[in-house]
Formats: sequence, structure tokens, C-alpha cells
Amino acid sequence: MNTAQAGRILIVDDDPIVIRVLASALGNYATLMFATSGSEALEMIKRHDFDVILLDATLPDQSGYDICKKISSQLENDGVQVIFVTGRTEIDAETRALSYGAVDFIRKPVSVPVVQARVRTHLTLKQRTDQLKLLSRIDGLTGVANRGEFEAVLKREWATARRQQTTLSLVFFDIDHFKKLNDSLGHQIGDDRLRAVAQLLASAISRGNDLVARYGGEEFVMLLPGAPLSWAQSMAETLVGKIYSENLPHPKSPFERITLSAGVACVMPDDDQYDSLIEKADQALYKAKTKGRNTVVSYTP
Ligand code: GH3
Ligand code: MG
Ligand code: MG
Repeated sequence: MNTAQAGRILIVDDDPIVIRVLASALGNYATLMFATSGSEALEMIKRHDFDVILLDATLPDQSGYDICKKISSQLENDGVQVIFVTGRTEIDAETRALSYGAVDFIRKPVSVPVVQARVRTHLTLKQRTDQLKLLSRIDGLTGVANRGEFEAVLKREWATARRQQTTLSLVFFDIDHFKKLNDSLGHQIGDDRLRAVAQLLASAISRGNDLVARYGGEEFVMLLPGAPLSWAQSMAETLVGKIYSENLPHPKSPFERITLSAGVACVMPDDDQYDSLIEKADQALYKAKTKGRNTVVSYTP
């Protein structure tokens, strides 16, 4: 069960004996952390990502049910698996736990093999879900973020920039005469070139919030939160120059090699129209195309 070993589990119980039993049962499956009250648990959940939370239904400061509800709202869709571990025997204890968002229910006194088996199952499911989520954000051909991910990040960064009154820059890159490349050298080579361009762009960003994504076909975007226009423009110029000097053959291009056109836009958001940044960068890109390609144009109103 190697995949499960990378997991992280939070054990919440006010009884040190239960904590000790669970710790020795699960120590080999995941990194363990502990909390002995509801407030301590909520604090730890804020600061760490957990895959599985083992939650006692009765804690000194608040009920496990309330905590479960708070976890669900605090973590939204992050998919943490809450398992209730409880000595409660009421007939509806189990249904109640499940209705509050728990995925499983284990009775005290705990049976070590049962806890191990259930936790392993939930760790594996959580990790598979995480992997699928990750894959759903990536472009299969090039390995950079896909358009859906770009739009989600743009929306988030737009809101942040609006709140903090900072700039948000966007560069739109488009490969020149790409249709003719496919027509002359074939789609396989076309795909190779797409990967090469994606790699070049992705290797140029280094700050945590910068993002390169494949917007569609042979179009890529680079989102640079906090960057002023001059920075984004010089980044675009460097990359257009780099792809030119890589000299990747393109027999049907006037440049006889793969080239990029780029449009740059920078705004300090004051409304929620995040699409307007894409439109501006796209308009600038269109100008770069009409200027003869292999060049960078910045948006001016
Ligand atoms: P321009 O210089 O004006 O940008 O011309 P262009 O030929 O690059 O632009 P156009 O939009 O006419 O054609 C884009 C081409 O990109 C058409 C399509 O066949 C190709 N394309 C889109 N996605 C892929 C892909 O995943 N792989 C390959 N090999 N080609 C693709
Ligand atoms: Mg093109
Ligand atoms: Mg295009």
C-alpha cells in the first residue's frame, strides 16, 4: 500500500488511550498529527492539508458533529475524508455522522485491523481523487495548465488584484503559420512543436502565482500577477526571441522557423470583468499578427 504511505491523518480524541491505540495502528500508513479538542482540531485543519480525519464524536469543547459540519464548510471541495470514531451507541449515531459529511463510522472499542483496513481504503480513494483533480487541470498534450484551470486562476487572481489594488498582466502567445507547419511536416511534428513551445514558456516563470496555460490549439497564455506592463512586455520579447533563436524548422514560414506572436495587456482591476484582460491581450496579439508576426505588441486603448 505504498500510495497510502504518503498520506496525512489527523486524529482527534480527548482520550489519550484511544490516541495511543490509533497512533500505533496507523503509524505505518501515514504521517499522523493529533488534537485533543475541537478548537485545536479546527486550528490544525486551517494550517495543514489532511487526507483523512479520525474524529471522536464527543469532545470536551464541542461535539464531533459540529466540527464535522465546520470542516465541510471550511474546506469546501478539498475532499478530506472524515471518519467518526465513537463509543456512542444511539441508534441514529451512525446516520447522523454520515449526514454531517463523514464518509465512515468506526465503533469504540476500536478493532485495529478494522481501523487499518478502512483508513487505507479512504486514503487510497482520497489520493486517487486528488490525482484525477490534478489531471483535470492539465493539458494532456503539453503538460501545462489547460484553459479551465487558467480561467479559474485568472478569476481568483483578478479578485486578489482588485482587493489589493495591484496589477495583473497577461501575455497571449500564438504560434505563427502553424496550420502550414502541420500541412508541410505533419501533425506529429506539429505536436512536438507545441510541446517545445509549452516547455519554453513554462520554464520562464518562477514566481509562485505565475501561470502558463494552453488556451487552445496553438495559443498559450501567461498570467503574471503583480507584474507591471513593462515587465510582462520584456518577458514576452525575451520568449519570442528565444523561440526564434531555437531555429525549429518551418519550411512554409517566411522566417523558415517556428516563431511566436504575442499580445500583452496589464490592468489594475476595478470591476469583476476579468474577461476584459483576455480581450485586451487578444487585441494586442491581433496587432502583432498584422504587423508581420514574430513580434510583441502591448495593448493600448
Ligand atoms: P497565424 O500565423 O495567423 O496564427 O496562422 P496559424 O496557421 O497559426 O493559425 P490558424 O488559427 O489558422 O491555425 C491554427 C492551426 O493549429 C490549425 C490546427 O490544425 C492547428 N492545431 C490546433 N491544435 C493542434 C494540435 O493539438 N496539434 C497540432 N499538430 N495542430 C493543432
Ligand atoms: Mg497561429
Ligand atoms: Mg491561433
